[in-house]
Amino acid sequence: MNRSLIKTRVQKFLSETRNNNLPVTPQKLAIFEYIASTDKHPMAEDILKNVRKKFPNLSDGTIYKNLKKFKSLHLIHEIDAPDGKRYDANIEPHDHLINLDTGEIHDIKQTSQFKLPKNFKNLTLYRASVTYYTRSK
Ligand SMILES: [Zn+2]
Repeated sequence: MNRSLIKTRVQKFLSETRNNNLPVTPQKLAIFEYIASTDKHPMAEDILKNVRKKFPNLSDGTIYKNLKKFKSLHLIHEIDAPDGKRYDANIEPHDHLINLDTGEIHDIKQTSQFKLPKNFKNLTLYRASVTYYTRSK
């Protein structure tokens, strides 16, 4: 992962939490930093395992509470993968390629132009992406 990209994500996290008057605990920062520093789209359990190396007493509840908060601040996306929910700090428009045999998820460049059907004119398109489900050859 690109160091400056991680730094940009963490800076956005710090400014968003500041703008929303949310305290930044070292644990909260560590949770976000882990998600921001990987492109593997980790599950909550993966995040917990990694952040516990630094904060052994971190509870499951703290992880889930913070993931929910980060989502509501649009700092991360939640992805419904075949093996469960995954988390993504890449909030730029992109598609996903999932290898069903390995569970790996890759970010891929978005090529589709999304447009809402005319009968949903009262809504604004917030996010759209394509998921490619693949199998190893
Ligand atoms: Zn992604």
